[in-house]
Amino acid sequence: MTLSSILSSVAQAARRVDRNPGEIRLVAVSKKQPLDRIKAALSEGHRIFGENRVQEAQAKWPSLRELYPDIEIHIVGPLQTNKVRQALELAQSIHSVDRPSLAEALARRIQEVGISPDLFVQVNTGEEPQKSGVLPKETDDFVADCHRLDLPIRGLMCIPPINEEPALHFSLLAKIAARNGLEWLSMGMSADFEVAIRLGATHVRVGSAVFGRRG
Ligand SMILES: *Cc1c(COP(=O)(O)O)cnc(C)c1O
Repeated sequence: MTLSSILSSVAQAARRVDRNPGEIRLVAVSKKQPLDRIKAALSEGHRIFGENRVQEAQAKWPSLRELYPDIEIHIVGPLQTNKVRQALELAQSIHSVDRPSLAEALARRIQEVGISPDLFVQVNTGEEPQKSGVLPKETDDFVADCHRLDLPIRGLMCIPPINEEPALHFSLLAKIAARNGLEWLSMGMSADFEVAIRLGATHVRVGSAVFGRRG
């Protein structure tokens, strides 16, 4: 697979359910990918990339951004509070706001710097103990707390359990977002982004299907 074929699959999946392909953003998850694959995507015109580790992203993106100033970085993995400052220097969006201490650290830093990154609350839709994210039944309260902190929460994100039907989790996420008045849904990866688009994804996070297997 390649970037252009994934982009056309995204557009087709959107049109099948009468959605405008332009409202779906492909976040190309470039973690652990060789630089030449990332440069290939950049030269094809892609600008939206996802990383799951701040340190790895910091090593890669500042020099690429000198060549392509309009690069947009999305942090999609767990974020430690002591990495908030670096994350906000690097990224325009964070998909993994998953606990009060992180929300508070983000709010403090965002106010200090006066920026407005796009934030997503991560929901642990499968209620898996090893997975981060707010539990579905706690999400309404957590989103309200984030609003009280003036955090720019735009949507919700989830990673469905590996062995379950992703559609159930995507629908649940869409339902929780709707009742909280949140417009964006970060859901769908290489194996299931078309299902996610059918169920309302606005951001699909696709790694290996765009770049090939990770090293
Ligand atoms: C790695 C990763 C992805 C991309 O996964 P693929 O299966 O390679 O598409 C998406 N979201 C998150 C949070 C990830 O860590």
